[in-house]
Amino acid sequence: MRKLLKILVNKRVLILSVLSAVIYLLISRYQISLWYVLLVGVLLGIVFGKVFCRWLCPMGLIMELIMNMNPNSKMNQMYQYHKIGCPIAWISGWLNKYSFFSIKIDSNNCSKCGICDKECYVVQMQPEKFSLYQKNMQKPGNSYTCSKCLKCVVSCPNGSLQYKI
Ligand code: SF4
Ligand code: SF4
Repeated sequence: MRKLLKILVNKRVLILSVLSAVIYLLISRYQISLWYVLLVGVLLGIVFGKVFCRWLCPMGLIMELIMNMNPNSKMNQMYQYHKIGCPIAWISGWLNKYSFFSIKIDSNNCSKCGICDKECYVVQMQPEKFSLYQKNMQKPGNSYTCSKCLKCVVSCPNGSLQYKI
């Protein structure tokens, strides 16, 4: 399962490219109402949290390509982009707290190496507030800004982080 997740995360931009092209076609060629897109984003939000932005959204793909042009400030750009968002992001971001799937830590298995925090743009922008592994800190995966890139989960060398029900 972890192997599959790693492949998906590594191929995320490709997956985003294909799915966002499908959504774009559905809207532009087949005149699918944006209300349906909003509904899909919200339903996915209930199950998975804020996955739409980084896995399906045509606008998200464009933003990501722009961010890749300036990798030095990528964390900051990502944070700002996912903070502002759109109605789908607002609702599914709020659902990060309540979605069926969420990022969980097995504290007994955590060596406190801090690699996960370094991979997370939410933590990098507000290290005084968020941490994936430190106790008494808010969990970035529950925050509105987390768009379920899942880099934290696949980067943990001990497999202590899991994205599960
Ligand atoms: S990467 Fe894994 S082992 Fe390291 S601090 Fe994070 S959860 Fe703990
Ligand atoms: S999925 Fe993990 S690394 Fe990505 S934004 Fe959320 S908490 Fe941070």
